[in-house]
Amino acid sequence: MLDADFFRRWMTATAVSVEHEAERLTALDSPIGDADHGSNLQRGFRAVATALEKEEPGTPGAVLILAGRTLISTVGGASGPLYGTLLRRTGKALGDAAEVDEAEFAQALRTGVDAVTQLGGAAPGDKTMIDALLPAVDALGQSFAAARSAAEEGAQATTPLQARKGRASYLGERSIGHQDPGATSSAILIAALAETAG
Ligand code: ADP
Ligand code: MG
Ligand code: MG
Repeated sequence: MLDADFFRRWMTATAVSVEHEAERLTALDSPIGDADHGSNLQRGFRAVATALEKEEPGTPGAVLILAGRTLISTVGGASGPLYGTLLRRTGKALGDAAEVDEAEFAQALRTGVDAVTQLGGAAPGDKTMIDALLPAVDALGQSFAAARSAAEEGAQATTPLQARKGRASYLGERSIGHQDPGATSSAILIAALAETAG
């Protein structure tokens, strides 16, 4: 069973990974964006870690709702509202249970990913975070490790795609040949999840 502490540790592990990967994320965002993805997420997840320490939410749902709300209020770029929605809607779907099982979590995360799709309008193959998140959710029914691999493969598979959403889409065909920063950070988020699950 997954309790509030598990979700806190997931968010903290994500914050640590984002610190380590911020430069790489920003570098990926320079040829096809505005070179701020790493700093956007760094600011956001630092704020998430601080908020979780201060408010100590007591249920899985409350942890993710607080994390999502914090991202929305601290990250100005497209990724803030999108990741914020992902976590907030996943948290809402978990309700106020003190513990959830892996199947319930997988279902809730799917609700969160669907909400990101609705908000951003991106379909699979549009070269966005959806290309890592959707395969991860599909594989989560198997295991956390399978979700991690699926997200990583999904992120790598964005390289030959032409972007159809977000800033990178302004480049048209010139967006081809670069890995999408948001799909890459989604793979980091899911890798942190798998690490937390041990
Ligand atoms: P900004 O583009 O505002 O500077 P970021 O650099 O933080 O924001 O995030 C860019 C990432 O956000 C992209 O790499 C992409 O994965 C994701 N993204 C942008 N627009 C959308 C969208 N409409 N739907 C899903 N993901 C999107
Ligand atoms: Mg950017
Ligand atoms: Mg920006």
